[in-house]
Amino acid sequence: MSGTSEGPAPAADFVRRAVTERHIDTPSRTVMSPHPSDGAPPGPVSGEVHREHPQPLTDAAPGTGPSPLPGRTRGAAFAAAPLAMAVVDRGDVIVTANETLGLLLGTGSASLDGRTASDLVDLASDARTWHAYREVLRGRQARLRCTRRIRHPDGHSLWVQVTVTPLPGEEAVLMSVADISSRRELQARLRHLQMHDPVTRLPNRTLFFERLTAALETDAYEEGGTGRIGLCYLDLDGFKAVNDTLGHRVGDRLLGAVAERLTRCAEQAGHARAATPLVARLGGDEFALLVEDSTGTEQLADLAESVLKALEVPFDLSGRRLSVSASIGVVERRAAGTTATGLMQAADTTLYWAKADGKSRWTLFDPERNAHRMTRQALSSTLRPAVDRGEFTLEYQPLVSMEDGGVRGVEALVRWNHPQFGMLTPNRFIGLAEEDGSIVQLGRWVLATACRQARRWQLDHPDTDPIFVSVNVAVRQVWDSDLVADVAQILAETQLPPHLLQLELTESAVMGSAGRPLQALQALSDMGVRIAIDDFGTGYSNLAYLSRLPVSVLKLDGSFVRSFQYETLDGADGHSDSADEVIVEALVQLAHRLGLTVTAECVETSAQATRLRGIGCDTGQGWLYSRPVAPERISELLASPAVQAGAGKP
Ligand code: C2E
Ligand code: MG
Ligand code: MG
Repeated sequence: MSGTSEGPAPAADFVRRAVTERHIDTPSRTVMSPHPSDGAPPGPVSGEVHREHPQPLTDAAPGTGPSPLPGRTRGAAFAAAPLAMAVVDRGDVIVTANETLGLLLGTGSASLDGRTASDLVDLASDARTWHAYREVLRGRQARLRCTRRIRHPDGHSLWVQVTVTPLPGEEAVLMSVADISSRRELQARLRHLQMHDPVTRLPNRTLFFERLTAALETDAYEEGGTGRIGLCYLDLDGFKAVNDTLGHRVGDRLLGAVAERLTRCAEQAGHARAATPLVARLGGDEFALLVEDSTGTEQLADLAESVLKALEVPFDLSGRRLSVSASIGVVERRAAGTTATGLMQAADTTLYWAKADGKSRWTLFDPERNAHRMTRQALSSTLRPAVDRGEFTLEYQPLVSMEDGGVRGVEALVRWNHPQFGMLTPNRFIGLAEEDGSIVQLGRWVLATACRQARRWQLDHPDTDPIFVSVNVAVRQVWDSDLVADVAQILAETQLPPHLLQLELTESAVMGSAGRPLQALQALSDMGVRIAIDDFGTGYSNLAYLSRLPVSVLKLDGSFVRSFQYETLDGADGHSDSADEVIVEALVQLAHRLGLTVTAECVETSAQATRLRGIGCDTGQGWLYSRPVAPERISELLASPAVQAGAGKP
């Protein structure tokens, strides 16, 4: 409710006259007080509305009562006041305006009388302000204060703060208009300084994130955009060396020159489009080009390509020629569901790939590569405790005699039952375990578990020929742990006869073996444990050398067997003379002559088995016979009347 003072308010008399007599300056007893907004704190930004409770328009100290001044004086005070003011009637019509308002609006005060106040200071253009203004006119709201941008007749625009207050007891309001253009300009200059980088004059990190956040919040459909966003995140290659060798001044000049080229690229890219990409310096030698409403990865790839091209031309910095290249991470995606942090993380990862892939290039974000990286990280951090938590299990895959199809042994294959990622095959984690050394602990667990299991089978099936267990051993287990002591201890504990244990090592692990690995192999062999070379044929394939090592089995890599697969079975016996087959045949013959037996991996078809048998392979392993299975399945197999191949087939 509008406040009223008792009896005629100080301003009321003057106003009443003004309303009835228009701007005829009639002597009056009322006092025009300075406007309450004088010296008030800075107002809100354009269009914002302040509502306050009305204050009586008096300058009298409380309790002392107003000291009446002659009306003529008050009228003169209104006319001469340095603050632009107008008395406006309830119908939004200016009753009288002072000289200052006339000057401010460039119209002269007299011509303002009778004009629509809201038109002059643009109070009707936004609904909120218009509503508040009308409420003040009706006496239902105490005050309106807002900031408007208005156009002066001479063409320049100015920022004004408009305050409208009811005149107590009167059918009119007082509108005051303060020119705040210089304050706004200063604020804008300060903001520019805060938001721009002094070295390159580009928008800085703060402004970049402000724009990015705003872009992600924009409703694409409302704005008629594509609803997508793209980012090139760029880092100069070897910039540190420039700084270190030529000094920071040269470094800064180079950054400035790079910024200019980036800006030119952005302008060219934006030429045929609605908006120019925002170029920002995010810090150090990192820059970003933000493309709002992007049209797809191709647009971003073109931009990245043009940036790399633009940077190819050497820089001429006061007579010094400098060449610089950059790596760029490119991300383009739907804006909906994207956060600024998420986008920056993706860009950062992609930039890292661009660097790792050899620098001076752009790389596109690849969700699969990213997922792989995240899983790798997640896996490696949970690998060590996983052994203690019992998250690993072993499956066993039969090793079958080619001659009679009987199971001679099984290979133990480790799996990780990861609480988050489910059942993982060894290719996902063995490499990691080798990298961080946890393979030693994991390998010991595999060895003990497999030996215990093999002994169990032996005890449970006394009437069947015992089967051996073949355990994979990583290089690091030979180097970083006392493999010989571990094996000896585990064999003693499980009471598994040494000849029922086979260890599989890769060719690369044993080739060139001297010193410790060779001694270990020798000691294990002396113990009666068999050594097999896993994935034979993928490495050196130096049979002559291998035969001098205590190795007794070659496991022929699956790629050999796979190459048999597509041969036509044109001969009656399905035989054809592919190059691989000739090589494998020669290998098998040579191996036999050197006293080694041969196991073929990845036998998937009976045609392959037939040929491998023809060539003279001793043992086969593969899906034809059985997938890797749980130990119980092997027990069932051993319990069957004839130890049959194929029992573990899915
Ligand atoms: P590997 O020692 O060569 O084991 C044979 C791999 O071939 C196994 O993969 C097996 O499932 C797969 N395989 C068997 N038959 C066929 C077939 O007919 N066709 C095809 N396409 N694949 C077949 P898995 O279990 O994923 O093991 C992969 C590798 O992980 C193993 O290759 C081995 O190098 C390593 N590994 C497994 N367990 C251990 C372990 O306990 N310790 C160490 N250090 N490495 C292990
Ligand atoms: Mg193996
Ligand atoms: Mg293998």
